[in-house]
Amino acid sequence: MLSTIDLRGRELGVRDLRHLLPRAEFDVAAAVETVRPICEDVRHRGAQALYDLGERFDGVRPTRLRVPAEVLEAALVQLDPQVRAALDEAIRRVRLVHEDQRRATTTTTVVPGGEVSERWVPVDRVGLYVPGGRAVYPSSVVMNVVPAQIAGVGSLAVASPPQRDNSGAFTGYPHPTVLAACALLGVDEVYAVGGAQAVAAFAFGFEDDSDASGVAVVCEPVSLVTGPGNIYVAAAKRYLKGVIGIDSEAGPTEIAILADDSAVPAHVSADLVSQAEHDPQAASVLVTDSVALADAVRADLEDRVAATKHSERVREALTGPQSGIVLVDDLDAGLAVVNAYAAEHLELQVVDAAAVSERVRNAGAVFVGPHSPVSLGDYVAGSNHVLPTGGCACHSSGLSVQSFLRGIHVVTYSQSALEEVAHHVVTLAQAEDLPAHGEAVQVRFEQG
Ligand code: NAD
Repeated sequence: MLSTIDLRGRELGVRDLRHLLPRAEFDVAAAVETVRPICEDVRHRGAQALYDLGERFDGVRPTRLRVPAEVLEAALVQLDPQVRAALDEAIRRVRLVHEDQRRATTTTTVVPGGEVSERWVPVDRVGLYVPGGRAVYPSSVVMNVVPAQIAGVGSLAVASPPQRDNSGAFTGYPHPTVLAACALLGVDEVYAVGGAQAVAAFAFGFEDDSDASGVAVVCEPVSLVTGPGNIYVAAAKRYLKGVIGIDSEAGPTEIAILADDSAVPAHVSADLVSQAEHDPQAASVLVTDSVALADAVRADLEDRVAATKHSERVREALTGPQSGIVLVDDLDAGLAVVNAYAAEHLELQVVDAAAVSERVRNAGAVFVGPHSPVSLGDYVAGSNHVLPTGGCACHSSGLSVQSFLRGIHVVTYSQSALEEVAHHVVTLAQAEDLPAHGEAVQVRFEQG
């Protein structure tokens, strides 16, 4: 089912590896062309475009774009107690980890009388995307909202696609479990908007004067959009970056597993399937120096894929060009492969996995040893599950409190501290042929 890429006996650099490793053919760059007209439609037609695009892409016209408070409350009242207990535990653990990510102001005395501080200031308003196409993701409510709240963001809005199959009070709104998770965390601004159009709605804001309440609903633009989503959501974030800030391109899920012959084939196979069930475009990649393990995993996958609930989607993901088994000579070669690949999720199912994890340079999150599967991180490890995909883990981090903060340098120099260094400013200004820079300092020390 998984194709094989045999890299044994080959000396390969990062450029070669990036070329040879499995990647989707329809990537974010290609999807930008698909989302451009969607985003421009929202920019120009606002709320009317959002109703129309919901009908077109989600199969249901949103009842109202903004979910009324009573619908959020009803979702929380009707939430299954076991799901509530699991969400409560997820929230508790994610809070524990993210509380430790708070940033304190630093102040450096450069010279007596010359100080530079860095103040960490939350963005004023964020748009949090919660996916809801093939599956629904109340866990993504937790992963978005908790770090934003800890960072101290003043204004939070959530968007998630309206669900075709909701009935009763929830008709034409996001899934009730998503709404309940919002209510649980005290988020009251929730929109029934999905996909690229949700990112555009956050970027440009909109006014909905067709709301059934008779009062126009205004969604103010946000400064930052965070959250996971499919390829269209990732592409809209790329297209609108600059109008808005983004966390990272957290698109279709990827799992890479670096495994040796100590790994249990059924565990490897189950973990590959668990991520493939997100999306036919999800990537599941096994990197191993053990042909025996590769064969055993392949054999296990046959039955497991046939038996799993979302068999068709999983099969499509595993047979796509973005998935495969990469055979390498040894652990060092395997590490070179996973570092070049820069997976969203990297599992280490190898001897002495903790030591090997120290050598990982590029990954959204690393799952160490036999008892740390990615599914744990998806829900209740305490780590964040909103992670960079498509190789972006080379330069981007997963969602964290830091994602919602900006560091502002505050520069305070006394007269004597400025005077002491004035000649260096003048020299560098002249070297850059920007003499007015030097004059702006000199003027402060001219007599009379
Ligand atoms: P989604 O909410 O991301 O996408 C649904 C939306 O996609 C729809 O509302 C629609 O507007 C849009 N859409 C669908 N087909 C389209 C088309 N042909 N053209 C334009 N727009 C289209 O929900 P989903 O589809 O279930 O995907 C969830 C995604 O989130 C999966 O890919 C999953 O792997 C990913 N995910 C990523 C992370 C991460 O951190 N990287 C975490 C969790 C989930």
